Amino acid sequence: MRHGNPALFVPHLGCPHRCSFCDQRAITGVQRLPAPEDVRTLCKEAVQERGRSLELAFFGGSFTCIDRKYLLSLLEAAQPFLGAGISGIRISTRPDAVGGEMLSLLKTRGVTAIELGAQSMSDAVLQKNGRGHSARDVAEAAERVRGFGFELGLQMMLGLDGAEESDDFVTARALIACRPDTVRLYPALVLRGTGLAERMQRGEYRPLTLEEGVRRTARVMELFGEAPDIRIIRVGLHPSRSLEEKLLAGPYHPAFRELCEGELMLFRLLRQIGNSDLSGRTVTAAIAPGELSRMLGQKRCNAAEIERRGARLRVVEQAGRPPLSPLLLSIK
Ligand code: SF4
Repeated sequence: MRHGNPALFVPHLGCPHRCSFCDQRAITGVQRLPAPEDVRTLCKEAVQERGRSLELAFFGGSFTCIDRKYLLSLLEAAQPFLGAGISGIRISTRPDAVGGEMLSLLKTRGVTAIELGAQSMSDAVLQKNGRGHSARDVAEAAERVRGFGFELGLQMMLGLDGAEESDDFVTARALIACRPDTVRLYPALVLRGTGLAERMQRGEYRPLTLEEGVRRTARVMELFGEAPDIRIIRVGLHPSRSLEEKLLAGPYHPAFRELCEGELMLFRLLRQIGNSDLSGRTVTAAIAPGELSRMLGQKRCNAAEIERRGARLRVVEQAGRPPLSPLLLSIK
């Protein structure tokens, strides 16, 4: 909370669904339900500490599925701060839990942004992973959320059980078609006590390796890059001790986004290089200021990849270059 917007995690205890990847307590690190008093304290502290307008977020579960009285009590607690340091409220929920009546209610309580856990746009993948909603539910919910004038966020999970790389690309394109304002990309991780863990232990599910997860996520970021109005606001789960304690397998890294951004830069540079003969040459690329370490990659892996192709990588920083978009200047 200290560095960003104030956020409270509201687990959906007693959720009737059994999503293959879900262990909310591990993801949120929260053991109890927040009380309205927690909302007031958080808002008060955030406003005093930050001194600028902030967005309050309720994350961690299916916000619109929780007990209605409890939901209202949390939103009510935030009301005195709206327009007095808190600019709006962001919630995340399931695509099949945003009917018109609920959206009207959220609108009157200062909610400004709604994120939908879409996860996949393949019905087969959704079904295999126990989501209990269809791709059509996502598209229709997205339309409704936008129709009510909320900022729309969509969350995607890569590498779910049954999701080949091509399925994730299809999902990315289908999510782009929903015209969200923001997206969050999460690689599927195997947490203790989840359906994925059981399937993995039975040999029925193989999680992505870190390398595969980074590569696939970077390609999906490239697809979202074709829709410049869509902001990618998170890549990879927020690292926490409780998450790490529950983690059994999967592409987890505390700096997952940085790894993906490095991979994306390499991908974009290699695309410009094409089939050019690199042996004994120097590849010179221009990048945005401050992106040298991303361009070189973790432990210089991108530079090593160019070297593996027989060339040396030379990088120059150029003011005004768009982020994560290296420009091939020369191969000499
Ligand atoms: S991810 Fe699935 S199982 Fe977990 S709280 Fe949300 S709907 Fe329920």
